[in-house]
Amino acid sequence: MNLILMGLPGAGKGTQAEKIVEKYNIPHISTGDMFRLAIKEGTALGQEAKSYMDKGELVPDEVTIGIVRERLSKPDCQEGFLLDGFPRTIAQADALENLLADMNESVDYVLHIDVPKEQLVERLTGRRVCPTCGATYHVIFNPPKEEGKCDHDGAELIQREDDQPETVKKRLEVNVEQAQPLLDFYQDKGYLVTFDGDRNIDDVFVDIDKKLGGLVK
Ligand code: AMP
Repeated sequence: MNLILMGLPGAGKGTQAEKIVEKYNIPHISTGDMFRLAIKEGTALGQEAKSYMDKGELVPDEVTIGIVRERLSKPDCQEGFLLDGFPRTIAQADALENLLADMNESVDYVLHIDVPKEQLVERLTGRRVCPTCGATYHVIFNPPKEEGKCDHDGAELIQREDDQPETVKKRLEVNVEQAQPLLDFYQDKGYLVTFDGDRNIDDVFVDIDKKLGGLVK
């Protein structure tokens, strides 16, 4: 089950990703998370990525494609994967097609969670994440059981630097421009499935789950 998750920041990708990987037992591969981990670990990759991420810019394609290539070659990707935040450019999408072809694989679905832009600012600034396990919450739409604390490990939830209002606006602008060519690319290939993301989380997942159920042998 080779999947790509798409949607503007705040469309609920992180939450749907958690549900998909739990049910279908495939690894969640988020390039953003991989870069953040590299930064935390202070690696050379982290240092390079940080210089772009701090400015709200994309990390160069060759760096990003390199880490995805390495990750997809790991044994836990044998039964499939869920890519999140990748590809972000046509060059990355082309590279992924080639990479998968070399593995005798191809993308099954590009799951696109569609939410009107106007709602995204509100959603984004309310997002909180667990610094320990990466679980995502929302102060209004998906609050933790105890305010400010992770349901899984009790860690104090944080607001990501790039979820602050000034950064959010820039991110949305950049993402709207970036996303359309990729949606067109995958529409042409026949991989694209669009879900109305302007509903509660469980209803969106029911529809995604129905679609993925068809892939299970
Ligand atoms: P995200 O968590 O997906 O919003 O990613 C956070 C940041 O990491 C982005 O703003 C980019 O700077 C960088 N990044 C993540 N994925 C990619 C990608 N596929 N290509 C280039 N840069 C990326």
